[in-house]
Amino acid sequence: MSPAPLAGPLDPDGSVLVVGAGLGGLRSAESLRANGFRGAVTMLGDEPDAPYDRPPLTKQLLAGTWDEARIQLASPDLLAENGIAVELGVAATSFDAATRTVQLDSGRSLRADAVVLATGASPRWLPGTEGAPGVHVIRTIAQSVGLRDALDALDGTGRVVVIGAGFIGSEVASTAAAKGFAVTMLEALEVPLGPVVGEQVGGWLTELHRRAGIEVRAGVTVAQVLARTSTSGPAVVLASGERLDADVIVIGIGVRPATEWLAGSGLRLSDGVLTDEALFAADAVVAVGDLARFRWHHAIGTDEVRIEHWEVTAQLAAHAAVSLLAGRGAAPAVSLVPYFWSDQHGRKIQMLGRPAPSDEVLCVAGSVDEAKFTVVYHRDGRVSGVLGVASPRNVMLVRPCVATGAPIADAASLFDA
Ligand code: FAD
Repeated sequence: MSPAPLAGPLDPDGSVLVVGAGLGGLRSAESLRANGFRGAVTMLGDEPDAPYDRPPLTKQLLAGTWDEARIQLASPDLLAENGIAVELGVAATSFDAATRTVQLDSGRSLRADAVVLATGASPRWLPGTEGAPGVHVIRTIAQSVGLRDALDALDGTGRVVVIGAGFIGSEVASTAAAKGFAVTMLEALEVPLGPVVGEQVGGWLTELHRRAGIEVRAGVTVAQVLARTSTSGPAVVLASGERLDADVIVIGIGVRPATEWLAGSGLRLSDGVLTDEALFAADAVVAVGDLARFRWHHAIGTDEVRIEHWEVTAQLAAHAAVSLLAGRGAAPAVSLVPYFWSDQHGRKIQMLGRPAPSDEVLCVAGSVDEAKFTVVYHRDGRVSGVLGVASPRNVMLVRPCVATGAPIADAASLFDA
C-alpha cells in the first residue's frame, strides 16, 4: 500500500516523524504542538542523551563550571507531557522520500504523514586520527567531557595544540588558556576566519587570542597527527617537517552535514539537504538546522545557504512546523536575520547578517586595542552585517539596518557623537 501524496496541508491529527534529537529536532516537534498539531509526533536520535545544548560544550561544560544536567534542553518527562515520543540510541540508516519511510539500524522501519530531517552535522577528523589516543573533536557531551577529563588529568600544566582557528577551535583555545594551559592554535588560512568575518576582522580576532597568550600560527599545513603512545604524548608534524609535541590535541576543522543515511532517498543532496524557501526537500518532508541548505531571500539578494548557528536552527525549526501545516505551495518563505555568538576570553562576539568576505568593513565604535569594537559590513553601499566584540547594544542597534539592507550611511549615523 502506498501512502497518499501529501503536497497539501498536513492533517492536524496525522503523524510526524522527526529524525535527529538535537536542537532542530526538538524545536520542530515543540513548534508542531505550539501550532496546534494534535497527531502523533515521534522523535528519533542516535545519541543516548535527551536533547541538549551544544554551545556550552566548548565553553561552560569544558571549563567545568556547568555540569551535564544544566545543558539539557528537555527532559524525557517534559517531552512526554508534550506528547512527543522519543526513541534514543536509534540511528536512521536510510530514507525513501516518496513514501516517507525511515529504515532504522534495529531493522525496523517507520512511516509517517510528514518527516522532519534534523540530523545536524558531524565533525571532520584529519585522516587516521579518529579515535586516536590524545586526539579530540567536540560535537557531543561525551566528547566535551572526554576532553575536559583529559585536561583535568594534566593538573593545570601542559600544552594543548588546537588544529583549526574557526569558532570551535577558538573557543576551545580560549577555555584551555583560561585553565592555565599553554595553547598553540594552527590554521591553514593566512588569516583565521577570513572567509567568515573578512580579513580585517579576522586579523583583529586573532590579535585578541595573542593578547590572551595563545600562540596562533596561521598559514601552516598539518602533514600528520601522531597519537599518544605509552612513551610520548600526541604530536603534530607540519608540512615544513617541524614537530609540535603536545599533551592534548583538539581538531576543529569544520563539520560534514549528516546526509550519509539519505543517499538514495530521492532528495537532492549537496553539502546538506537542498530545500526550497519554505524548507521543503520533498512533499511533506522538511529539513532544518545544520543539515539544511535552504533558499534564503534577504534584503540584498537571494542565496542558497547552510548556516551552522543555534538561533538560525531554532528559527528554521519553528518555520518547518508552520510549513508542514500549511503544505507545500501555500507555505511562507523563511524570513530571518542570521545571528551568531561566541564567547572567547571573557568577551562575547556577536554577528548579525551574513556578510561576504569581500564586503567592505566600517569600524563604527571601539578598536582592537580596547578589545571592544563594532564593525558594520556593506556591499554596494548597503548594510550586509554587523559584528561586535563586547558590544551587544551596538549590535542590536544596527539590526534594523541589516534586516532592511539600509544604506551604510544610515548605520554610520547611528554612531555619530
Ligand atoms: P545537532 O545539534 O547536531 O543535532 C542533530 C542530532 O541528530 C544529533 O544528536 C545527531 O547525533 C543526530 N543524528 C545524526 N545522524 C542521525 C541518524 N542517522 N539517525 C538518528 N539521529 C541522527 N551556535 C551559535 O550560534 N553560537 C555558539 O556559541 C555555538 N557554539 C557551538 C559549540 C559547539 C561545540 C557546537 C558543536 C555547536 C555550536 N553552535 C553554536 C552551533 C549550534 O549548536 C548548532 O547550529 C545546532 O546544534 C544545530 O542543531 P541541529 O539540530 O541541526 O544539529
